[in-house]
Amino acid sequence: MSDPDGKTLGQRDAAHHLHPFTDNRELADAGGPTVIERGEGCYLWDDQGHRYLDALAGLWCVNVGYGRKELADVAARQMQQLAYYNTFFNTTTAPTVELAETLAALMPGHLNTALFANSGSEVCDSAIRLARFYWQLVGKPSKRIVIGREEGYHGSTLATISAGGVGAMHAQGGIGMPDFAHIEAPYKFLRGQDMSEAAFAQQAAHALEIKIKELGAENVALFICEPIQGAGGLIFPPEGYLQEVQRICQRHDVLFVLDEVISAFGRLGAWSAAELFGLSPDFITLAKGLSSGYQPISALMISDPIADKLRDAEGGLAHGFTYSGHPVAAAVALENLNILKREKLIERVAQDIGPYFQRALTRLAGHPLVGEVRSLGLLGAVELIQDKARHILFDPPGVVAAVCRENLRERGIIVRAVRDTLLIAPPFVVTHDQVDDIVDTLEAALEYIRKELGIIAEEQKVADVVEHTAEPLAGKVALVTGASRGIGAEVARVFARAGATVFLLARDAEGLAARQAEIEAEGGTAVSVPADLSRPEGMAVLLEAIENGGGRLDVLVLNAAVLGDLKPLPDIENASWDRVIDLNLSAAFRLLAALHPLLSASNAGRCIFVTSGAARGAHANWGAYAASKAGIEAMMRVYAAENRKFGIRANAVDPGAMRTGMRATAFPDEDPGSVSPVKAAGPVFLRLAVADCSFSGAVIPVLDKAEAAE
Ligand code: NAP
Repeated sequence: MSDPDGKTLGQRDAAHHLHPFTDNRELADAGGPTVIERGEGCYLWDDQGHRYLDALAGLWCVNVGYGRKELADVAARQMQQLAYYNTFFNTTTAPTVELAETLAALMPGHLNTALFANSGSEVCDSAIRLARFYWQLVGKPSKRIVIGREEGYHGSTLATISAGGVGAMHAQGGIGMPDFAHIEAPYKFLRGQDMSEAAFAQQAAHALEIKIKELGAENVALFICEPIQGAGGLIFPPEGYLQEVQRICQRHDVLFVLDEVISAFGRLGAWSAAELFGLSPDFITLAKGLSSGYQPISALMISDPIADKLRDAEGGLAHGFTYSGHPVAAAVALENLNILKREKLIERVAQDIGPYFQRALTRLAGHPLVGEVRSLGLLGAVELIQDKARHILFDPPGVVAAVCRENLRERGIIVRAVRDTLLIAPPFVVTHDQVDDIVDTLEAALEYIRKELGIIAEEQKVADVVEHTAEPLAGKVALVTGASRGIGAEVARVFARAGATVFLLARDAEGLAARQAEIEAEGGTAVSVPADLSRPEGMAVLLEAIENGGGRLDVLVLNAAVLGDLKPLPDIENASWDRVIDLNLSAAFRLLAALHPLLSASNAGRCIFVTSGAARGAHANWGAYAASKAGIEAMMRVYAAENRKFGIRANAVDPGAMRTGMRATAFPDEDPGSVSPVKAAGPVFLRLAVADCSFSGAVIPVLDKAEAAE
């Protein structure tokens, strides 16, 4: 839909609307957001007519599905009768009373009092405030500290981001509040791979006891946790963990707040996680599924002893919100709970669709990109991994899952990505066929990603060949540019050890002679070619050297580069730009053009470009260098695509951070011990150089830092 100026709704949105948890600049540059227009059951439609299967139920809230007329009717009736009245002035409304009663009946025995708000953030914030107030009321005002967990998420207010452990949120505006502490999340996939579930549960829970003792129980007000950490990447508690942290809280007189904003009202196949895991927390926070997202409403359930103290507080309770117990929201929430009961949706999650969903997801567990599948009820996580056998995660994290999420979206399925985990939480009305559709599409997207990246299986296969062959480059001829020092010198050494005759190119004749002597001392063969790649005569010298050496080339490593001025593009002088682009990009092109006939003549022509994280924005102010590296990646992809069918394979290596002269120039104050030695680069280049390397068009990071450092 366009306005009279011809702008789309998305463009108008981008001009005046700041989106939460979004790169707003990127969104605006991409033409603005997708406009979602309509929903029915598990499906959404955008204003371009695309249909999506919403496998995240909005933000894990639309549990009864979209388009429920009965909820719209209840809202309309209540609005006509009484659209709003507050609960401040010794007043209430019938839906508010009825909802409080209903929640008291649905939540575990001693949680009989509700405080209403509009969002999960507000009730988690309220729990913190009321817990501290409770300790004041019982004469223990020093008990103020809140203990949360890393990767925990409890909302986006100052207090709740402080209680949560999402680093990106802390980084923006700071944690902001004193008296907050954190313990590690019980993230077994990351931190307890080699432990039994029971031992890991004990260790993770014990971290709470250690923290309480460290802070002094007399200073700790509460421990807050989600039974299953949602926005932190669906981290499921190991068996026994939740019961143990509850025991620890009780032992140290610390209040236990269970954040059930995602888990309550059937998501796990029970009315609450407290019921499912047999817990009796002091507070439970409720939101999302309370109204299935049809109205913004949340509730803090307070246990009897605490509620009694708060009721008796002298001077009354100085806390609440304009819309606490909003009659329309309360009426809609009540009807939503009725739907869950009437249609037996929670039983369906527990006995039918939940187990079906879990079984279907398990199909993905064997995929080479899948490190772990976790699920319970209608919550599912698919954790992606770079190297399954060696348990190596993607580095940097968050890229592959985000690409996968976008690919799924293009295929009409909406999921969420956190780090490298895909999160799935469809509405409770999802059918068996729709679950199959979600999982089949996920499988197709993973396959696409695997092929696109060209990694894992191939990498592993090639690594095995390289490991078990004495001289995997025997009889091959390689050219390494920038071989006088740094990464290039190491790659040349590794290639020579692998049996190749290596042409070493750089300007520094002495440096090259020294490298050649080192290689020869190890029994290898090297030919020094002192040449300046920025000058036309440099190319001529090189071509002559190769001609004299037999006119053959199998492996070309385009490694030589300079940093130039590290400034944003507009601040860079033309000459400086020309110099950097000329060596880092144009010279690589000239070499490629000149040497392509030789690579084509080889029966396994391999071309390895050397890129940098700067190509993908890692160093935003590295202007011409970053542009040259982005260019070299693009050139690699084009060359790879053009030559795949002729047997030439082209890939790029991203060395990460390596201890070299260039690194020292860029970061003069960096501790050289904190970056990888160049030794780490050799194996990656070698795998890409051998004839067995069949993938092409990929950017491969140097990962094995620790291994190489040994
Ligand atoms: P380095 O130690 O500075 O080595 C650069 C090499 O390029 C030297 O051998 C240099 O030799 C050669 N070179 C420079 N200008 C040349 C010219 N006009 N003609 C021919 N050769 C020339 O750098 P490095 O750290 O090993 O970097 C190697 C590659 O890795 C580069 O592409 C770099 O962008 C990339 N990289 C490095 C890191 C890191 O942390 N080190 C991180 C990401 C990417 P002469 O001076 O003798 O000519």
